[in-house]
Amino acid sequence: MQNSQSPLFQSPLFQDAISQLESASSIMNLDPNILERLRYPKRAIQVSVPIRLDDGTVKVFEAYRVQHNMTLGPGKGGIRFHQDVNLSQTAALAMLMTFKCALVGLPLGGAKGGVRVDPNLLSRQELQALTRRYAVEIGPFVGPDKDIPAPDIGTDGQTMAWFMDTYSQQTGYAVHGVVTGKPIGIGGSLGRAESTGKGVAFCIQFAFEKLGLRLDSNTKVAIHGFGKVGVPAAQDLAAQGARIVAVSDYTGGIYNSRGINLQETIEWVKSGKVLKDMPNVEKISNEDLLCLDVDVLIPAAISGVITEKNAAKIKAKVIAEGANGPCTGPAIDILTEKGVFVIPDILCNAGGVTVSYFEWVQGLAHFFWDLDQINNKLYGILNNAFHRVADCADKYKVDMKKAATISALSRLDAAMRLRGIWPA
Ligand code: GLU
Repeated sequence: MQNSQSPLFQSPLFQDAISQLESASSIMNLDPNILERLRYPKRAIQVSVPIRLDDGTVKVFEAYRVQHNMTLGPGKGGIRFHQDVNLSQTAALAMLMTFKCALVGLPLGGAKGGVRVDPNLLSRQELQALTRRYAVEIGPFVGPDKDIPAPDIGTDGQTMAWFMDTYSQQTGYAVHGVVTGKPIGIGGSLGRAESTGKGVAFCIQFAFEKLGLRLDSNTKVAIHGFGKVGVPAAQDLAAQGARIVAVSDYTGGIYNSRGINLQETIEWVKSGKVLKDMPNVEKISNEDLLCLDVDVLIPAAISGVITEKNAAKIKAKVIAEGANGPCTGPAIDILTEKGVFVIPDILCNAGGVTVSYFEWVQGLAHFFWDLDQINNKLYGILNNAFHRVADCADKYKVDMKKAATISALSRLDAAMRLRGIWPA
């Protein structure tokens, strides 16, 4: 058991990630020496990021980059700009990236970064200064062969462009491979922006096939978090005929049992407006949205929204974890008991890092692929991973969450044994 006084242990997400690691390890009989190493991040960097605000004053922001495990390759994982970011949460998210990359078979390790800031309170100029100085502070530890950041909550293609430019200015030439999720014009990949949501939709399709359910206009879908993940997932599911009955953002949600007007809602949020201000629609609270009587619920915002407090009230048949850690471990046990099929985050939202991997490869090769190639390869990788996890769930008679972790750990275990420990 890890020292619970350690600063690493302080967030609920880290405690949950450790329980996930430990319960999967005991089911699969993982070598305790491998388990011991996976409990700790390889490297955790804390930096202070000072910037001059528009009013002339200087403010310092706490920031991190945590590299959890790099056995399979360079670190990979997003950068989060959010007021709740801390070392422990970043370490947990880095651990989830290790599992995610291993599960889908990418030659990448797990990492995550973040700045403790509410990005909505900064101007564009302040955000640019923050990103550039953060890039400089963690600069010695990142790079195409070391650790490759990407967008996460509160960051986007523009953030990656500033990061890539800062790193490239310091190197003296354009380094495409240092980040992924870049805009297309500077070496981004086609399909990257939609890839996480697309992967969520693919996984829901695989789950429906496995459960013998039909995806059609009677399939009701609710989406908690109508942003970078929720919007493309909704578009793909609607294109397959599903009915999107509710979506929400941090201000609240909208609901229509006959299906919301998807196009209008997407235009509303893309113009920067929040859902609570949308006119002529029925409103619903985030808590009520989670408990709607729907076929599919996609929590695609933040972690810890489905806990042992509300899990018993969930009515969805399938939960697709678009966010990282939206259901806590105890909540998943309650949901599984109720017969809810949960598609776990490290599988369900792995479309993002998979197309990030394609972007990194394209950047290193200076050769770009077309969209069909990208989406076909993405489909193939997620289809394989889904069925590998489903087979593992059958073999060990466990839910998909445990099966996904077991499946990821078996890949890591094999690689860690081959590489051994240095010095021997
Ligand atoms: N932030 C995303 C995730 O949590 C993407 C990471 C990446 O593309 O490296 O999976």
